[in-house]
Amino acid sequence: MIDLRSDTVTRPTDAMREKMHRADVGDDVYGEDPTVAALETRAAERLGREAAVFVPSGTQANLISILTHCDRGDEYIVGRPYHSFAREGGGAAALGGVQPAPVEVDSDGAVPTESIRSAIKPDDDPHFARTRMIALENPTGGRVQPVEYIREVAAIADAHDLALHLDGARLFNAATSLQVSARALAEPADSVWFSLSKGLGAPVGAVVCGPTRFIEQARRWRKMVGGGMRQAGIVAAGGLHALDHHLDRLEEDHRNARRLAEGLNEVDGIRVDLESVETNMVFAELHRGDTDELESFLADRDIHIHPHSPLRLVTHIDVSADDVDRTTSAFETYFDQI
Ligand SMILES: *Cc1c(COP(=O)(O)O)cnc(C)c1O
Repeated sequence: MIDLRSDTVTRPTDAMREKMHRADVGDDVYGEDPTVAALETRAAERLGREAAVFVPSGTQANLISILTHCDRGDEYIVGRPYHSFAREGGGAAALGGVQPAPVEVDSDGAVPTESIRSAIKPDDDPHFARTRMIALENPTGGRVQPVEYIREVAAIADAHDLALHLDGARLFNAATSLQVSARALAEPADSVWFSLSKGLGAPVGAVVCGPTRFIEQARRWRKMVGGGMRQAGIVAAGGLHALDHHLDRLEEDHRNARRLAEGLNEVDGIRVDLESVETNMVFAELHRGDTDELESFLADRDIHIHPHSPLRLVTHIDVSADDVDRTTSAFETYFDQI
């Protein structure tokens, strides 16, 4: 089976399962799980931060970060398509009384710095929610944001005494693509998190990194929203294994995404903008045929996609170069017979 719906669908490797099986554990709510502690230390070191906290999901990583940076009635500036605004059930507003100020992004997925400046509300006018935070996302929709841009936004945040939060669900994909360290890429942000269960191939979790005081407060919010986990070392061990063994292989996912994009571009009926393929995601436009029909045609051949338009195809640890070629042929066959 070839599953291109997302990089969240990966199964732990045998070596990862072995580490999870043997993980040393304790009650992490008591701060007694050595494997969780090791993961948090490793993540903080990787990103050059004082501290880190292990959370069950990226959604919770964003939520507790926003709740830590902002108070009720505060506002955060965020790209309109970004996950923390568009795809987290309005959690910050519903649970924290924090209002998002969504801003349109440009064709690369960046929030233009001019738009950020004009979205910041004057602090001395009670008509407005108080702007408290800027949320960036890198990569976003498969597009990477260079460190210069993040620095520029950080300078705006500094000038207005705002926090800069970086949703780096796939931060290591961005770093790999830009050929910079994840640490350098995250450096301008006050808080940053990355997912363990996407490109890194672990089953569960994310890690939020930041200053000690921030992480202490984030830990309190994590407990409040039900993210205190007991013998969580079992899953943290998968994350540690991923940090040890799955970072260097992200390049392979990116090569496979490019191979897929180039292959699909040879097929009459579908088009990929090759410039937009910067990480492990390929966005393809259908010029003929029907996405639902294509989905079931591919599913019959054990290839799985989401029937969205444009199609988003994601490579990951369970997709090989051969799988990519099989996929390209299946697309070819579909377009040949319609
Ligand atoms: C997946 C994702 C999230 C949410 O992570 P979950 O673990 O699915 O809750 C947040 N932000 C971005 C950019 C994501 O891709």
